[in-house]
Amino acid sequence: MYQAKAYSAASATAALGGTTIQRREPTDQDVQIEILFCGVCHSDLHQVRNEWSEVMPTVYPCVPGHEIVGRVTKVGAAVKKFKAGDLAAVGCMVDSDGTCPHCREGLEQFCPNVTLTYNFPDKHTGAVTYGGYSESVVVNQRFVLHVPKNLDLAGAAPLLCAGITTYSPMRHWNVTKGKKVGVVGLGGLGHMGVKFAHALGAHVVVFTTSPGKKDDALRLGADEVVISRHSNEMAAHASSFDFILDAVSADHDIAAYINLLKRDGNLTLVGAPQKPLAVSAFGLIMARRSLSGSAIGGIAETQEMLDFCGQHQITSDVEIIPIQKINEAYDRLLKSDVKYRFSIDMASLKA
Ligand code: NAP
Ligand code: ZN
Repeated sequence: MYQAKAYSAASATAALGGTTIQRREPTDQDVQIEILFCGVCHSDLHQVRNEWSEVMPTVYPCVPGHEIVGRVTKVGAAVKKFKAGDLAAVGCMVDSDGTCPHCREGLEQFCPNVTLTYNFPDKHTGAVTYGGYSESVVVNQRFVLHVPKNLDLAGAAPLLCAGITTYSPMRHWNVTKGKKVGVVGLGGLGHMGVKFAHALGAHVVVFTTSPGKKDDALRLGADEVVISRHSNEMAAHASSFDFILDAVSADHDIAAYINLLKRDGNLTLVGAPQKPLAVSAFGLIMARRSLSGSAIGGIAETQEMLDFCGQHQITSDVEIIPIQKINEAYDRLLKSDVKYRFSIDMASLKA
């Protein structure tokens, strides 16, 4: 074991602060990474504040962070895909059983024995896993991704969660040229959803509660922007969407969006609000519409997404912050005040 600097929360109500954690020495299968940037996902905030206590209660101290890019510092004897000095990335998962039907289909995120990057039992240390708000991380090579060399690293970090979480359902629901696609909530996930839907050739409509984001939405690739609090603007899109991606972090009216789907249209929830959302049965049954969810994406698809981003020059729009500003960043996330992802410059942890 070795000691690594990190930022952690001691309880659901405590601010995050500096600490030291134990990391394992790399085993044969492991890659040790010096973390350069880590994105700030709204899930970090939900988890730190124990807002998902019914599904995944938080164990403290909690070191969040699952949008990790960095440089390889050491590899185990059996690691062939990486060598010291390479760029490397880690997302929301660090292990799975590798043998279940989900793993065999490349859908490790649904493995019953998946290990998430933070706040999950760590079979190596006996404690919980600690995430990317840290100077380094040690991860099994199966869960380490290659970062295309042409991408800006601060902007690439958010691809590891916000990127794959929006890319995967768009591929699953066949977002292509000629499809009308809605993206609800222009935050970290939403703005990546807009970039991917645009790159895949769809007609993209952004739904936002923030009128001030309209110009940005168009710049990011939207064809139209709807201020969702204006009912006349909503009504103009009734029964017209093939697919809607809902990336909202708080309570909101999803029935209103279901009514915007065409016959057989699908709304996929990726946002994970604390409380249940209300659905009208008639909204679904009258036009055979469907409502579904999606969790991040498998490892092979995450690499596919990174390569797609390399080819299309896609990164997240980031505001780079030092780790010392993380509590302020969380307060701003709650006000929908980020354009459009905070990316922590992990060199600040050395300060
Ligand atoms: P974020 O950057 O905070 O963005 C959330 C956006 O939702 C805001 O920018 C805002 O957009 C909208 N919003 C916030 N409060 C709202 C309200 N009361 N009513 C309507 N709209 C509201 O968050 P994020 O990091 O993108 O994460 C979004 C959600 O996805 C979180 O719940 C997160 O935990 C979840 N998530 C899920 C997965 C998965 O695998 N399924 C992966 C990562 C994250 P406007 O200003 O445009 O209205
Ligand atoms: Zn995330």
